[in-house]
Amino acid sequence: MQNDLNTNPLIKKNHIELRSKIRDFAEKEIRPIAAKLDDEARFSQQLTKRMGEIGLLGITIPKEYGGQNLDTLSYIIAVEELARVDSSQAATVAAHNSLGIAPICNYGTKEQKSHYLPKLTTGDSLWAFGLTEADAGSDVTRIKTKAELSDGKWNINGSKLFITNSASDCSAGITVLAISGERNNKKELSVILVDKHTSGYSTEPISNKMLWRAVDTGKISFNNCRVPEKNLLGERGRGAHIMLETLDSGRLSIAAIGLGLAQGAFEMALEYSRKRHQFEQPIGKFQSIAFKLADMQIKLELARNTLYKVCWQKDAKLPFTKEAALIKLYCSEIAKEIADEAVQIHGAYGLMKNNDIERFYRDQRILQIGEGTSEILRVLISRHLGL
Ligand SMILES: Cc1cc2nc3c(=O)[nH]c(=O)nc-3n(C[C@H](O)[C@H](O)[C@H](O)COP(=O)(O)OP(=O)(O)OC[C@H]3O[C@@H](n4cnc5c(N)ncnc54)[C@H](O)[C@@H]3O)c2cc1C
Repeated sequence: MQNDLNTNPLIKKNHIELRSKIRDFAEKEIRPIAAKLDDEARFSQQLTKRMGEIGLLGITIPKEYGGQNLDTLSYIIAVEELARVDSSQAATVAAHNSLGIAPICNYGTKEQKSHYLPKLTTGDSLWAFGLTEADAGSDVTRIKTKAELSDGKWNINGSKLFITNSASDCSAGITVLAISGERNNKKELSVILVDKHTSGYSTEPISNKMLWRAVDTGKISFNNCRVPEKNLLGERGRGAHIMLETLDSGRLSIAAIGLGLAQGAFEMALEYSRKRHQFEQPIGKFQSIAFKLADMQIKLELARNTLYKVCWQKDAKLPFTKEAALIKLYCSEIAKEIADEAVQIHGAYGLMKNNDIERFYRDQRILQIGEGTSEILRVLISRHLGL
Protein backbone atom coordinates (compact mmCIF):
# COMPACT_ATOMS: atom_id res chain seq x y z
CA MET A 1 0.00 0.00 0.00
CA GLN A 2 2.80 2.44 0.89
CA ASN A 3 4.34 1.90 -2.57
CA ASP A 4 1.11 3.10 -4.21
CA LEU A 5 1.63 6.47 -2.57
CA ASN A 6 5.12 6.93 -3.94
CA THR A 7 4.56 6.52 -7.69
CA ASN A 8 4.40 10.23 -8.51
CA PRO A 9 7.48 11.33 -10.55
CA LEU A 10 8.10 14.19 -8.10
CA ILE A 11 8.72 11.67 -5.32
CA LYS A 12 12.41 11.09 -4.68
CA LYS A 13 14.23 8.64 -2.42
CA ASN A 14 14.33 11.15 0.45
CA HIS A 15 10.52 11.57 0.29
CA ILE A 16 10.02 7.79 0.44
CA GLU A 17 12.32 7.55 3.45
CA LEU A 18 10.58 10.44 5.16
CA ARG A 19 7.12 8.91 4.59
CA SER A 20 8.32 5.65 6.04
CA LYS A 21 9.81 7.37 9.09
CA ILE A 22 6.69 9.45 9.84
CA ARG A 23 4.40 6.48 9.25
CA ASP A 24 6.40 4.44 11.71
CA PHE A 25 6.25 7.24 14.28
CA ALA A 26 2.50 7.78 13.79
CA GLU A 27 1.74 4.06 14.07
CA LYS A 28 3.91 3.50 17.14
CA GLU A 29 3.46 6.73 19.10
CA ILE A 30 0.20 8.34 17.97
CA ARG A 31 -2.18 5.52 17.06
CA PRO A 32 -2.16 3.90 20.52
CA ILE A 33 -3.31 7.12 22.23
CA ALA A 34 -5.25 9.03 19.53
CA ALA A 35 -8.72 7.78 20.53
CA LYS A 36 -8.09 8.46 24.22
CA LEU A 37 -6.84 12.02 23.61
CA ASP A 38 -9.91 12.63 21.43
CA ASP A 39 -12.24 11.18 24.03
CA GLU A 40 -10.73 13.32 26.80
CA ALA A 41 -10.41 16.39 24.52
CA ARG A 42 -6.79 16.57 25.66
CA PHE A 43 -3.90 18.33 23.92
CA SER A 44 -0.68 16.39 24.49
CA GLN A 45 2.37 18.45 25.31
CA GLN A 46 4.41 15.25 25.44
CA LEU A 47 3.47 14.23 21.90
CA THR A 48 4.18 17.76 20.69
CA LYS A 49 7.64 17.51 22.22
CA ARG A 50 8.20 14.18 20.44
CA MET A 51 7.06 15.70 17.14
CA GLY A 52 9.61 18.46 17.67
CA GLU A 53 12.32 15.92 18.42
CA ILE A 54 11.79 14.11 15.12
CA GLY A 55 11.94 17.39 13.20
CA LEU A 56 8.24 17.95 12.47
CA LEU A 57 8.12 21.49 13.84
CA GLY A 58 10.22 23.52 11.44
CA ILE A 59 10.39 21.13 8.47
CA THR A 60 10.95 23.78 5.81
CA ILE A 61 12.82 26.28 8.02
CA PRO A 62 16.55 26.86 7.24
CA LYS A 63 18.98 24.86 9.38
CA GLU A 64 20.56 28.02 10.80
CA TYR A 65 17.27 28.63 12.63
CA GLY A 66 16.92 25.05 13.87
CA GLY A 67 14.78 23.73 11.01
CA GLN A 68 15.17 20.82 8.60
CA ASN A 69 15.36 22.91 5.41
CA LEU A 70 13.27 20.36 3.48
CA ASP A 71 11.06 21.08 0.47
CA THR A 72 7.31 21.68 0.52
CA LEU A 73 6.58 18.15 -0.72
CA SER A 74 8.42 16.68 2.29
CA TYR A 75 6.33 18.81 4.62
CA ILE A 76 3.10 17.80 2.89
CA ILE A 77 3.98 14.09 3.01
CA ALA A 78 4.70 14.41 6.75
CA VAL A 79 1.32 16.07 7.42
CA GLU A 80 -0.42 13.51 5.20
CA GLU A 81 1.09 10.62 7.16
CA LEU A 82 0.11 12.14 10.52
CA ALA A 83 -3.47 12.69 9.34
CA ARG A 84 -3.68 9.10 8.10
CA VAL A 85 -3.60 8.21 11.80
CA ASP A 86 -4.81 11.29 13.67
CA SER A 87 -5.95 14.65 12.30
CA SER A 88 -5.42 16.38 15.65
CA GLN A 89 -1.65 15.83 15.61
CA ALA A 90 -1.53 16.70 11.90
CA ALA A 91 -3.39 19.95 12.63
CA THR A 92 -1.03 20.90 15.46
CA VAL A 93 1.96 20.42 13.15
CA ALA A 94 0.32 22.07 10.13
CA ALA A 95 -0.87 25.17 12.02
CA HIS A 96 2.53 25.64 13.66
CA ASN A 97 4.53 25.23 10.44
CA SER A 98 2.31 26.96 7.89
CA LEU A 99 0.62 29.63 9.96
CA GLY A 100 2.80 30.00 13.05
CA ILE A 101 6.40 30.07 11.93
CA ALA A 102 6.17 30.47 8.13
CA PRO A 103 5.21 34.17 8.26
CA ILE A 104 8.09 34.87 10.67
CA CYS A 105 10.45 33.07 8.31
CA ASN A 106 9.05 34.75 5.19
CA TYR A 107 8.58 38.32 6.41
CA GLY A 108 10.70 38.57 9.57
CA THR A 109 13.85 40.64 9.93
CA LYS A 110 17.06 38.73 10.62
CA GLU A 111 16.71 39.76 14.26
CA GLN A 112 13.10 38.50 14.48
CA LYS A 113 14.04 35.19 12.85
CA SER A 114 17.01 34.64 15.17
CA HIS A 115 14.92 35.56 18.19
CA TYR A 116 11.83 33.45 17.48
CA LEU A 117 12.59 30.56 15.16
CA PRO A 118 15.20 28.49 17.08
CA LYS A 119 12.90 28.12 20.09
CA LEU A 120 9.92 27.33 17.86
CA THR A 121 11.48 24.29 16.19
CA THR A 122 12.16 22.14 19.25
CA GLY A 123 8.66 21.05 20.29
CA ASP A 124 8.76 23.04 23.54
CA SER A 125 6.86 26.01 22.12
CA LEU A 126 4.20 26.61 19.49
CA TRP A 127 3.25 29.84 17.73
CA ALA A 128 -0.27 30.84 16.66
CA PHE A 129 -1.83 32.81 13.82
CA GLY A 130 -4.52 35.32 14.71
CA LEU A 131 -6.83 36.36 11.93
CA THR A 132 -10.32 35.27 12.99
CA GLU A 133 -12.43 37.30 15.42
CA ALA A 134 -16.00 36.91 16.66
CA ASP A 135 -17.38 39.13 13.88
CA ALA A 136 -14.65 38.55 11.29
CA GLY A 137 -14.30 35.12 9.70
CA SER A 138 -14.17 35.01 5.91
CA ASP A 139 -14.25 38.82 5.78
CA VAL A 140 -10.89 39.96 7.14
CA THR A 141 -11.81 43.65 6.78
CA ARG A 142 -14.30 43.31 9.67
CA ILE A 143 -11.60 42.81 12.30
CA LYS A 144 -11.77 45.15 15.31
CA THR A 145 -8.47 44.42 17.08
CA LYS A 146 -6.48 47.67 17.21
CA ALA A 147 -2.77 48.39 17.53
CA GLU A 148 -1.87 52.01 18.27
CA LEU A 149 1.73 53.16 18.06
CA SER A 150 2.94 55.54 20.74
CA ASP A 151 6.29 56.06 22.51
CA GLY A 152 7.90 53.29 20.45
CA LYS A 153 5.34 50.67 21.43
CA TRP A 154 2.24 49.11 19.90
CA ASN A 155 -0.69 49.15 22.29
CA ILE A 156 -2.99 46.26 21.32
CA ASN A 157 -6.64 45.85 22.28
CA GLY A 158 -9.13 43.27 21.01
CA SER A 159 -9.47 39.52 20.76
CA LYS A 160 -9.00 36.57 18.40
CA LEU A 161 -11.22 33.49 18.33
CA PHE A 162 -10.82 29.82 17.31
CA ILE A 163 -7.04 30.08 17.31
CA THR A 164 -5.01 26.87 16.95
CA ASN A 165 -2.03 26.35 19.30
CA SER A 166 -2.95 29.36 21.40
CA ALA A 167 -4.02 28.32 24.88
CA SER A 168 -1.83 25.48 26.14
CA ASP A 169 1.38 25.82 28.15
CA CYS A 170 3.24 25.16 24.88
CA SER A 171 1.88 28.25 23.20
CA ALA A 172 4.52 30.98 23.16
CA GLY A 173 2.57 33.74 21.42
CA ILE A 174 0.78 34.84 18.30
CA THR A 175 1.07 36.72 15.02
CA VAL A 176 -1.83 39.17 15.16
CA LEU A 177 -3.59 41.03 12.39
CA ALA A 178 -4.68 44.40 13.75
CA ILE A 179 -5.91 47.80 12.60
CA SER A 180 -2.85 50.03 12.87
CA GLY A 181 -4.39 53.22 11.53
CA GLU A 182 -6.25 54.58 8.53
CA ARG A 183 -5.15 55.13 4.93
CA ASN A 184 -7.31 56.70 2.21
CA ASN A 185 -10.40 56.36 4.43
CA LYS A 186 -9.75 52.62 4.79
CA LYS A 187 -8.52 50.55 7.72
CA GLU A 188 -4.75 50.14 7.65
CA LEU A 189 -3.99 46.52 8.62
CA SER A 190 -0.64 45.39 10.00
CA VAL A 191 0.80 42.24 11.52
CA ILE A 192 2.44 42.24 14.95
CA LEU A 193 4.22 39.52 16.93
CA VAL A 194 2.97 39.24 20.50
CA ASP A 195 4.64 37.14 23.17
CA LYS A 196 2.30 35.43 25.63
CA HIS A 197 4.16 36.88 28.62
CA THR A 198 3.17 40.41 27.60
CA SER A 199 1.09 42.10 30.26
CA GLY A 200 -2.61 42.22 29.22
CA TYR A 201 -2.39 38.99 27.18
CA SER A 202 -4.82 36.29 28.24
CA THR A 203 -5.99 32.98 26.76
CA GLU A 204 -8.99 30.75 27.22
CA PRO A 205 -9.16 27.21 25.85
CA ILE A 206 -12.15 26.20 23.72
CA SER A 207 -12.94 22.62 24.66
CA ASN A 208 -16.44 21.92 23.36
CA LYS A 209 -15.39 20.98 19.84
CA MET A 210 -16.92 18.02 17.96
CA LEU A 211 -13.61 17.46 16.17
CA TRP A 212 -9.87 18.05 16.38
CA ARG A 213 -10.47 17.41 20.04
CA ALA A 214 -6.79 16.84 20.84
CA VAL A 215 -5.86 20.18 19.25
CA ASP A 216 -5.29 23.20 21.46
CA THR A 217 -7.86 25.75 20.23
CA GLY A 218 -8.41 28.97 22.12
CA LYS A 219 -9.49 32.56 22.40
CA ILE A 220 -6.86 35.24 22.97
CA SER A 221 -7.65 38.64 24.47
CA PHE A 222 -5.43 41.72 24.37
CA ASN A 223 -6.05 44.32 27.02
CA ASN A 224 -3.59 47.20 26.61
CA CYS A 225 -0.90 44.76 25.51
CA ARG A 226 2.20 46.83 24.84
CA VAL A 227 4.91 45.38 22.61
CA PRO A 228 7.97 47.09 21.07
CA GLU A 229 7.55 48.80 17.69
CA LYS A 230 10.13 46.37 16.24
CA ASN A 231 7.57 43.54 16.67
CA LEU A 232 5.87 44.72 13.49
CA LEU A 233 6.13 41.83 11.00
CA GLY A 234 6.76 42.92 7.42
CA GLU A 235 5.71 46.31 6.17
CA ARG A 236 3.19 48.47 8.01
CA GLY A 237 -0.14 48.44 6.13
CA ARG A 238 0.63 45.13 4.34
CA GLY A 239 -1.08 43.01 7.01
CA ALA A 240 -3.93 41.61 4.91
CA HIS A 241 -1.50 40.72 2.13
CA ILE A 242 0.85 38.91 4.56
CA MET A 243 -1.96 36.97 6.19
CA LEU A 244 -3.63 35.98 2.90
CA GLU A 245 -0.35 34.97 1.28
CA THR A 246 0.37 32.84 4.36
CA LEU A 247 -3.00 31.15 3.86
CA ASP A 248 -2.02 30.09 0.31
CA SER A 249 0.63 27.80 1.81
CA GLY A 250 -1.60 26.92 4.76
CA ARG A 251 -4.16 25.58 2.32
CA LEU A 252 -1.66 23.02 1.04
CA SER A 253 -1.35 21.59 4.53
CA ILE A 254 -5.14 21.52 5.02
CA ALA A 255 -5.26 19.63 1.71
CA ALA A 256 -2.64 17.23 3.11
CA ILE A 257 -4.76 16.66 6.23
CA GLY A 258 -7.75 15.90 3.98
CA LEU A 259 -5.72 13.55 1.82
CA GLY A 260 -4.18 11.72 4.78
CA LEU A 261 -7.50 11.42 6.57
CA ALA A 262 -9.15 10.12 3.39
CA GLN A 263 -6.32 7.60 2.91
CA GLY A 264 -6.74 6.36 6.49
CA ALA A 265 -10.52 6.07 6.10
CA PHE A 266 -10.08 4.21 2.80
CA GLU A 267 -7.66 1.72 4.35
CA MET A 268 -10.06 1.04 7.23
CA ALA A 269 -12.97 0.54 4.81
CA LEU A 270 -10.91 -1.75 2.57
CA GLU A 271 -9.81 -3.92 5.46
CA TYR A 272 -13.32 -4.12 6.88
CA SER A 273 -14.85 -5.03 3.52
CA ARG A 274 -12.42 -7.96 3.30
CA LYS A 275 -13.12 -9.34 6.74
CA ARG A 276 -16.85 -8.62 7.26
CA HIS A 277 -18.96 -11.49 5.92
CA GLN A 278 -22.64 -11.27 5.04
CA PHE A 279 -24.61 -13.65 2.80
CA GLU A 280 -21.73 -16.14 2.98
CA GLN A 281 -19.10 -13.83 1.49
CA PRO A 282 -16.92 -10.83 2.33
CA ILE A 283 -18.95 -7.65 1.78
CA GLY A 284 -16.19 -6.40 -0.56
CA LYS A 285 -17.40 -9.01 -3.07
CA PHE A 286 -20.67 -7.10 -3.49
CA GLN A 287 -20.33 -4.81 -6.45
CA SER A 288 -21.89 -1.85 -4.66
CA ILE A 289 -19.22 -2.03 -1.93
CA ALA A 290 -16.37 -2.73 -4.36
CA PHE A 291 -17.37 0.29 -6.47
CA LYS A 292 -17.39 2.56 -3.43
CA LEU A 293 -13.79 1.48 -2.77
CA ALA A 294 -12.88 1.95 -6.43
CA ASP A 295 -14.30 5.48 -6.34
CA MET A 296 -12.25 6.22 -3.21
CA GLN A 297 -9.10 5.01 -4.93
CA ILE A 298 -9.77 7.25 -7.95
CA LYS A 299 -10.28 10.32 -5.77
CA LEU A 300 -7.16 9.63 -3.71
CA GLU A 301 -4.98 9.17 -6.77
CA LEU A 302 -6.19 12.40 -8.38
CA ALA A 303 -5.93 14.40 -5.17
CA ARG A 304 -2.43 13.18 -4.34
CA ASN A 305 -1.02 13.88 -7.80
CA THR A 306 -2.48 17.37 -7.93
CA LEU A 307 -1.38 18.24 -4.40
CA TYR A 308 2.19 17.12 -5.07
CA LYS A 309 2.21 19.11 -8.30
CA VAL A 310 1.14 22.28 -6.46
CA CYS A 311 3.98 21.73 -3.96
CA TRP A 312 6.36 21.69 -6.89
CA GLN A 313 4.75 24.85 -8.28
CA LYS A 314 5.29 26.62 -4.94
CA ASP A 315 8.94 25.59 -4.66
CA ALA A 316 9.51 26.56 -8.31
CA LYS A 317 8.32 30.05 -7.23
CA LEU A 318 5.43 29.96 -9.70
CA PRO A 319 2.12 31.57 -8.70
CA PHE A 320 -0.02 28.98 -6.89
CA THR A 321 -2.86 30.89 -5.18
CA LYS A 322 -5.58 29.44 -7.43
CA GLU A 323 -4.13 25.92 -7.35
CA ALA A 324 -3.76 25.97 -3.55
CA ALA A 325 -7.43 26.96 -3.25
CA LEU A 326 -8.47 24.33 -5.75
CA ILE A 327 -6.61 21.44 -4.12
CA LYS A 328 -7.59 22.47 -0.57
CA LEU A 329 -11.20 22.49 -1.69
CA TYR A 330 -10.88 19.17 -3.52
CA CYS A 331 -9.04 17.30 -0.74
CA SER A 332 -11.42 18.59 1.92
CA GLU A 333 -14.44 17.53 -0.11
CA ILE A 334 -13.10 14.06 -0.97
CA ALA A 335 -12.21 13.61 2.72
CA LYS A 336 -15.86 14.24 3.52
CA GLU A 337 -17.10 11.83 0.82
CA ILE A 338 -14.60 9.09 1.63
CA ALA A 339 -15.13 9.27 5.40
CA ASP A 340 -18.88 9.14 4.82
CA GLU A 341 -18.71 6.10 2.54
CA ALA A 342 -16.22 4.42 4.89
CA VAL A 343 -18.75 4.76 7.72
CA GLN A 344 -21.42 3.29 5.41
CA ILE A 345 -19.19 0.27 4.72
CA HIS A 346 -18.72 -0.27 8.46
CA GLY A 347 -22.50 -0.34 9.02
CA ALA A 348 -23.56 0.09 12.65
CA TYR A 349 -20.01 -0.56 13.90
CA GLY A 350 -18.89 2.62 12.12
CA LEU A 351 -21.18 4.67 14.31
CA MET A 352 -19.60 3.51 17.56
CA LYS A 353 -17.17 5.63 19.56
CA ASN A 354 -14.68 2.78 19.91
CA ASN A 355 -14.19 2.65 16.14
CA ASP A 356 -11.55 4.98 14.65
CA ILE A 357 -13.69 5.63 11.59
CA GLU A 358 -16.17 7.53 13.79
CA ARG A 359 -13.37 9.96 14.79
CA PHE A 360 -12.28 10.33 11.16
CA TYR A 361 -15.88 11.10 10.14
CA ARG A 362 -16.01 13.97 12.68
CA ASP A 363 -12.48 15.26 12.06
CA GLN A 364 -12.98 15.89 8.35
CA ARG A 365 -15.74 18.44 8.93
CA ILE A 366 -13.47 21.40 9.73
CA LEU A 367 -11.56 21.00 6.49
CA GLN A 368 -14.30 22.60 4.39
CA ILE A 369 -14.42 25.58 6.81
CA GLY A 370 -10.93 26.45 8.14
CA GLU A 371 -8.46 28.53 6.08
CA GLY A 372 -11.10 29.51 3.52
CA THR A 373 -14.53 27.90 3.37
CA SER A 374 -15.42 25.93 0.25
CA GLU A 375 -17.76 28.77 -0.75
CA ILE A 376 -15.02 31.40 -0.42
CA LEU A 377 -12.54 29.22 -2.32
CA ARG A 378 -15.01 28.85 -5.19
CA VAL A 379 -15.28 32.66 -5.25
CA LEU A 380 -11.46 32.90 -5.35
CA ILE A 381 -11.10 30.29 -8.11
CA SER A 382 -13.82 31.88 -10.23
CA ARG A 383 -12.14 35.29 -9.87
CA HIS A 384 -8.96 33.72 -11.30
CA LEU A 385 -11.10 32.68 -14.26
CA GLY A 386 -11.85 36.35 -14.84
CA LEU A 387 -15.49 36.03 -13.74
C1 LIG B 1 -10.85 24.15 15.07
C2 LIG B 1 -10.63 25.48 14.41
C3 LIG B 1 -9.36 26.00 14.30
C4 LIG B 1 -9.16 27.27 13.74
N1 LIG B 1 -7.89 27.81 13.72
C5 LIG B 1 -7.73 29.11 13.35
C6 LIG B 1 -6.46 29.76 13.49
O1 LIG B 1 -5.47 29.15 13.93
N2 LIG B 1 -6.36 31.07 13.17
C7 LIG B 1 -7.42 31.79 12.69
O2 LIG B 1 -7.26 32.97 12.41
N3 LIG B 1 -8.64 31.19 12.50
C8 LIG B 1 -8.83 29.88 12.84
N4 LIG B 1 -10.04 29.28 12.70
C9 LIG B 1 -11.16 30.04 12.15
C10 LIG B 1 -11.51 29.64 10.71
O3 LIG B 1 -10.47 29.96 9.85
C11 LIG B 1 -12.84 30.34 10.36
O4 LIG B 1 -13.84 29.62 11.04
C12 LIG B 1 -13.10 30.39 8.87
O5 LIG B 1 -12.25 31.32 8.27
C13 LIG B 1 -14.56 30.78 8.53
O6 LIG B 1 -14.98 31.89 9.25
P1 LIG B 1 -16.36 31.82 10.09
O7 LIG B 1 -16.38 30.54 10.83
O8 LIG B 1 -16.49 33.07 10.85
O9 LIG B 1 -17.49 31.72 8.98
P2 LIG B 1 -18.17 32.95 8.17
O10 LIG B 1 -17.14 33.72 7.43
O11 LIG B 1 -19.08 33.69 9.07
O12 LIG B 1 -19.03 32.13 7.11
C14 LIG B 1 -20.28 31.52 7.43
C15 LIG B 1 -20.84 30.92 6.14
O13 LIG B 1 -21.08 31.97 5.18
C16 LIG B 1 -20.39 31.66 3.98
N5 LIG B 1 -19.89 32.89 3.35
C17 LIG B 1 -19.24 33.93 3.94
N6 LIG B 1 -18.92 34.85 3.03
C18 LIG B 1 -19.33 34.39 1.82
C19 LIG B 1 -19.26 34.86 0.48
N7 LIG B 1 -18.66 36.02 0.15
N8 LIG B 1 -19.80 34.09 -0.51
C20 LIG B 1 -20.40 32.91 -0.22
N9 LIG B 1 -20.48 32.40 1.03
C21 LIG B 1 -19.96 33.13 2.03
C22 LIG B 1 -19.22 30.77 4.41
O14 LIG B 1 -18.74 30.00 3.32
C23 LIG B 1 -19.89 29.92 5.49
O15 LIG B 1 -20.59 28.87 4.91
C24 LIG B 1 -10.26 28.00 13.22
C25 LIG B 1 -11.55 27.44 13.29
C26 LIG B 1 -11.74 26.21 13.88
C27 LIG B 1 -13.14 25.67 13.99
